[in-house]
Amino acid sequence: MKNFNYHQSTKILFGKGRISELAEVVLQYGSKVLLVTTKAANPSLVQQYTRVRAILTSNGISVAHYDGVIPNPTIEVISAGALMARKFGAEVIVGLGGGSSMDTAKAISVEATHPGTSWDYLFYKTPQPDPSKLLPIIAVSTTSGTGSQVTQVAVVTNTKTRDKSALYNNILYPQVCIVDPELMVTVPKFVTATTGFDVLCHAFESTINPGTGAYVDLLAWEAISIVVANLPKLLDNLEDSETRENMAYADTLAGLCIANAGVTLPHGMGMAVSGMYPQVAHGEALAILYPACLEFTWEYAVPQFARLATILNPHLKSFSDREAAWQSRDEIVKFLKLIGLHKKLSDVGMPEGEIEDLAKQCMVLPDYKGNPRVATAEEMVHLVKQSY
Ligand code: NAD
Repeated sequence: MKNFNYHQSTKILFGKGRISELAEVVLQYGSKVLLVTTKAANPSLVQQYTRVRAILTSNGISVAHYDGVIPNPTIEVISAGALMARKFGAEVIVGLGGGSSMDTAKAISVEATHPGTSWDYLFYKTPQPDPSKLLPIIAVSTTSGTGSQVTQVAVVTNTKTRDKSALYNNILYPQVCIVDPELMVTVPKFVTATTGFDVLCHAFESTINPGTGAYVDLLAWEAISIVVANLPKLLDNLEDSETRENMAYADTLAGLCIANAGVTLPHGMGMAVSGMYPQVAHGEALAILYPACLEFTWEYAVPQFARLATILNPHLKSFSDREAAWQSRDEIVKFLKLIGLHKKLSDVGMPEGEIEDLAKQCMVLPDYKGNPRVATAEEMVHLVKQSY
């Protein structure tokens, strides 16, 4: 067996109704909370935020509510939250929402306690944040999901440079996360589809990343099987609590995978897409890029691509690994059609004249280098063209 490392410092509270334990969790770290969320854009979010605030305040916790998060959060969004945290004297940061809210909470913890902005602490910059200064982070996930509740990553968008990058440091693992599937029953159809597909991508890219190992593999294939069996069913009935719970579980497993193995080419490209076109949701960008990335890579990791293809279509079990792996692109296209995410970059407002610029941007983050087949600049242009 190949040697592997596995690290996870976030305590996970998983299960229906676990949100009721939030106050108890917070009080281990402090009694002044900055609650970080998106705007309550609909009655279900109003209800959710009111409930969570009540859980905190009825237990003697003071709450300042920063509701300025937007999907693909920007440097400015984080700075406004950090300012509020400092003025309020927050002792704990609670990120309640999808990846955007949880990542903003992590980045606020850094910016509220360090000079400069969150962008100054990206993964490749020095100095990195000082662990003794950070405010404790509690992540409460309400999508399934980005896995951010169990990762050391906070993704940030720089609208001036049209760049999406990340803080990445083991000190950014939330101290505790709550994964309560009851909070997810209100997630709209499109967000359910995009976040659900993100789960599959996290798990699959972890299995082909050189950082993978037996334990990540175990979690990843379980997560992929759960997504394939549950996501289309969930999209037919968004209120089905059992499939919501299964997806929440798969999301957490896949988050543990990326925290330990990392993502590859599609995620690196996906970050570039949402960096240049912030209107494109993270999972939507991945859905657009996956067919071309699978076609490009399948021959370089035949066993994993064959396994993915046979999970998507069990009839392929009678095929050789090579034949099944070759079908993986077509099988993912069928799956994307099933979940309503079969689209192209031209469908989401990308101008054709920016193909070369996007291809260049796809090579900024190192993720593409973790792919079993590493794209050259020319091949990257081809991948973008195919996805256009
Ligand atoms: P999101 O957090 O942007 O949320 C999308 C929309 O869904 C928002 O408008 C939000 O208000 C709404 N929403 C969330 N939960 C809801 C609920 N329960 N009911 C109704 N509406 C709800 O979406 P996301 O895909 O979870 O997060 C995307 C972000 O996470 C991107 O910036 C992406 O790059 C990042 N990301 C981070 C990691 C990580 O490890 N940190 C991993 C993958 C992606």
